[in-house]
Amino acid sequence: MKAKTPTTERPALTGLNAQELSEVLGLKSFQGRQVFKWIHQKGVLDFGAMTNLSKDLRASLQKRFRLSETSFIDASNSPRSGTKKVLLRLADGESVESVLLRDKDRTTLCLSTQVGCPVKCSFCATGLSGYSRNLSPGEIVEQALYLLRDEAMEDRTPNIVIMGMGEPMLNYDATVKSVRLLMEEEGLGIGARKITVSTAGEAEGIERFAEEDWQVRLSISLHAANDQLRDELVPLNRRYNLRRLMQAVRHYGYKVGRQLTFEWTLMEGVNDRDSDLEELVALVADLKATVNLIPYNPVSGLAYRAPKRSRCEAFRDALSRAGVKATLRIERGQDIDAACGQLRRRQGAARVASPSPDQNSGSAPSSSSISS
Ligand code: SAH
Ligand code: SF4
Repeated sequence: MKAKTPTTERPALTGLNAQELSEVLGLKSFQGRQVFKWIHQKGVLDFGAMTNLSKDLRASLQKRFRLSETSFIDASNSPRSGTKKVLLRLADGESVESVLLRDKDRTTLCLSTQVGCPVKCSFCATGLSGYSRNLSPGEIVEQALYLLRDEAMEDRTPNIVIMGMGEPMLNYDATVKSVRLLMEEEGLGIGARKITVSTAGEAEGIERFAEEDWQVRLSISLHAANDQLRDELVPLNRRYNLRRLMQAVRHYGYKVGRQLTFEWTLMEGVNDRDSDLEELVALVADLKATVNLIPYNPVSGLAYRAPKRSRCEAFRDALSRAGVKATLRIERGQDIDAACGQLRRRQGAARVASPSPDQNSGSAPSSSSISS
């Protein structure tokens, strides 16, 4: 399950901080900061449009460097559910999908960290569609830049959930670097508490995460509270069983002292039974934790389905009665977790729609098809 690295040899400029940009581009540090602001604050992926750089410098940079690692393929916008999905093509022909979700007063971006996912959870569309490679920091950040194009954000900053395709802890360094870039004051300036990283339970990554000097939130996708069922649903459990996982989770909770979140995707007859409830309570009752219940979002080709609404509510209420804080996301399609869980690696997606002819184009994506 060792993750491969991207095939591109040069680092994506979008994955560099201001200091690194100055070094790589051979610029003075204030110019590196100017380029960084253009990319991350304004979403400009074209040196030619960076008007506070001299004309000569712009032309020279344009000639020598390729700014972005991805190109826009397609966007689908569903005003009814408030979701926008963006499909980007990567330099090696792979593609990656990410989602924006609008709520009344909140915009959330769901970003991917890998092309497909090597964990292959039995219920997940991403796992089903295979795995190709890790994404670079630039490829992760560019998803946010494209999703935010043409979005009327006023003064809001978006929330970020690293819950798209892939297991972030299997691409740890790139995930951490991209999160730091998203947090940069001179970039999007997203507060650490508005960022959540979700893991299927990679214990070593959770322990490393506990050592980071930040307030970024962590969410653990549990789904089962006994090893037999969890081995089946989340195959990573065979490497880090529940005892090992909970050891890492406790270490994290002790070190960080913040509220933990567990995700529990409710699947009828699989993990919604009374015995599941009892096991879950026994596992987490003594932790400062919230269990986020998400009714299963159907995936074509898989037989899992969500329990009836009344059963979901009963499961939530029973957790609460047992002293475990629980939330239930009911609104289908409106739910960022469910929307994220629907991202699937599209093989040959680069051929689905023709990419923009100029990969460095700083203009907003031109084609935008409307579908749900
Ligand atoms: N790999 C990481 C993050 C991406 S998956 C992880 O597993 O945590 C994001 C969340 O969506 C996980 O909690 C995952 O279990 C959930 N998910 C996947 N497929 C789903 C589906 N069909 N319905 C509801 N949730 C799903
Ligand atoms: Fe990978 Fe997460 Fe899907 Fe499991 S649920 S296959 S870890 S993306």
